Amino acid sequence: MTAPVRCPKCAVEVSDPTQPCPKCGFVIDHPQRKRYQRQVIASGVSTLLGYALGMVGLLLRWEIVGIAGLAIGFVGGVWFMVSLYFLLRTGV
Ligand SMILES: [Zn+2]
Repeated sequence: MTAPVRCPKCAVEVSDPTQPCPKCGFVIDHPQRKRYQRQVIASGVSTLLGYALGMVGLLLRWEIVGIAGLAIGFVGGVWFMVSLYFLLRTGV
């Protein structure tokens, strides 16, 4: 038997922390949260690296590298926003 867990939002006792709180719907131990956290970090890093690569490419007049870097940065930024949205939906 596991010890009862209290919801950090409304302090109601929750028997299964991976299920939504019966009172407020908060999921204490969301099974997907770690995955979304990793995605936010990975997409944030790729956004920064992509824009950095794009800037270097533009400074050195390597057009292909510059455009590719900015494209990676842009896609990374969109991915970052989507990942962050899903992460926030797990109740962080
Ligand atoms: Zn609750």
